[in-house]
Amino acid sequence: MNAFKGKRILIVEDSRFLAQITANILNKYGYMTEIALTGEEAVEKVCGSQYPDLILMDIELGEGMDGAQAARTIQQFTDIPIVFLTAHTEKEVVEKICSITGYGYVLKGAGEHVLVSTVEMALQLYEANAHANMYRQIFENSLNEIYIFHPETLKFIAVNRGARENLGYTIEELSTMTPLDLKPELDLQSLRGILDSLACGEQEKTVFNTVHYRKDGSLYPVEVHLQLFEHRGEKVCVALIIDLTERRQMEEELRSSEATLNAIISSVMDAIIMLDGQGNVTFWNPAAEQLFGYSREEILGKDLHRLVVPDERLYKVYNQAFKHFQSTGEGNVIGKTIELKAKHKDGRELDVELSLSALRIRDAWHAVGIVRDISERKKIEEQLYCLSITDPLTNAYNRRYFMQVLEQEIERTGRTGLPFSIIMVDLDHFKSVNDRFGHAAGDLVLKSLVDLINGRIRKTDCLARWGGEEFVILLPNTPVDKAAGLAEELRGQLSSMNIPGVGNVTASFGVAGYCPADTVDTIVMRADNMLYEAKSSGRNCVRYTGECL
Ligand code: GH3
Ligand code: MG
Ligand code: MG
Repeated sequence: MNAFKGKRILIVEDSRFLAQITANILNKYGYMTEIALTGEEAVEKVCGSQYPDLILMDIELGEGMDGAQAARTIQQFTDIPIVFLTAHTEKEVVEKICSITGYGYVLKGAGEHVLVSTVEMALQLYEANAHANMYRQIFENSLNEIYIFHPETLKFIAVNRGARENLGYTIEELSTMTPLDLKPELDLQSLRGILDSLACGEQEKTVFNTVHYRKDGSLYPVEVHLQLFEHRGEKVCVALIIDLTERRQMEEELRSSEATLNAIISSVMDAIIMLDGQGNVTFWNPAAEQLFGYSREEILGKDLHRLVVPDERLYKVYNQAFKHFQSTGEGNVIGKTIELKAKHKDGRELDVELSLSALRIRDAWHAVGIVRDISERKKIEEQLYCLSITDPLTNAYNRRYFMQVLEQEIERTGRTGLPFSIIMVDLDHFKSVNDRFGHAAGDLVLKSLVDLINGRIRKTDCLARWGGEEFVILLPNTPVDKAAGLAEELRGQLSSMNIPGVGNVTASFGVAGYCPADTVDTIVMRADNMLYEAKSSGRNCVRYTGECL
């Protein structure tokens, strides 16, 4: 079967009769044909329509352009194979033909087999040339450097453009050189060793790293892929060279940014911890070692929750983040900064602040936590809070705090129905204590009174300085008569207490029990009224009321 069946042949022949006979023969063998009677018509046809696959060109055309001229014109814009038709084979004619085309000629009247086989050979040759050309282009334009050299003489057979440009050598210069001239790290013996291992079939291909010399003396790192091929019964060596300069630069940049990152991570004061999807530790910086007491080796791969943060809230934030990641596939900062209690390896409890973010690293979810020790801050916050609710002279609670506690107690009583009472205490003739013994002695009396009361009341009771030399005591879960009993006890103890530099002092007590519908103001007012009554009754006594107004 004709492999070129259907190929289009343009027959250029000034004799319509001969052209038609030629066309008939070619049609019989499956070719498609078209006829041009002059050189001009042939040029026009080639330009105007789809290029034919081959042109059969009569060398002698009647008027106008002859076959040689027409062929040269066509060759200016296409490389279609042109086979000449000639009636003569004189030397000059043959030479002329050969100067125009490499596809030969057919003697007119040589018979259909000669004609058809010449056409077929020309088409085959054209295809082979096209293939060779394609491979040449690939070789020449490859972005990698490619050398072909003789494995015995080591002389270069071909060096592609990429290689020539990177090396800075011309083809002529390279034609006298060998791969050893380019590879300062390689000597003849080691190159022979490599080639021998390829030649004996031990390996199909060998890959090694070395450096290349450029013409200007500069060096660049390369990866060499070496292979042996058979070509016309002879072995040739093909070297594919990958310039590693960029890769090395990137590796260097990566190393340096890694070193920077490591330096930062190692020197920060905050613990940086990374967990995988199972909650196991995958990263642990030196600050984390310091904060929690566990070394990297001890903690990597372990469950963080059980070891250092046994706090349910962490689970919650963590699970939220995981769900968010699964539903959106994105890794973003999640949750707010939360304060937690963490455990040091030695069992100590630490106050820490944790900011948690979700990160996607190579398609897997990770949580990155930045943990800061806030124990010091917490301590200061606590101190500040204490200062804000106590009276600096006596250390009793202040009036503002007492009001809050009283409000809560009223609210609690509303729920539980348990009674509570308050006692107002006012030192008797305290002005005269100051006047007689001085202000410092007066202060001592105030402190002594607070110590006395605090030493007697329960932890759940609350003593506050109401103002000046007046104090108030809240007694939860205490009916008014019990509160009055306590007031009486306190009164007795105070009056018999000897205060250094002052002697004895007394105080008056007003007691009120909680009544339904009481507010802070109403219960305080009733206690105050009772205090007034105590004062009016001669002081150093207790007055109380169980009545609700
Ligand atoms: P009464 O028995 O009627 O309560 O008489 P009193 O003198 O205690 O009452 P008055 O309200 O006349 O005087 C209260 C005095 O308490 C006047 C004030 O100087 C004194 N005082 C208030 N705060 C302090 C304090 O922090 N330290 C000292 N040393 N004295 C104080
Ligand atoms: Mg007083
Ligand atoms: Mg007073």
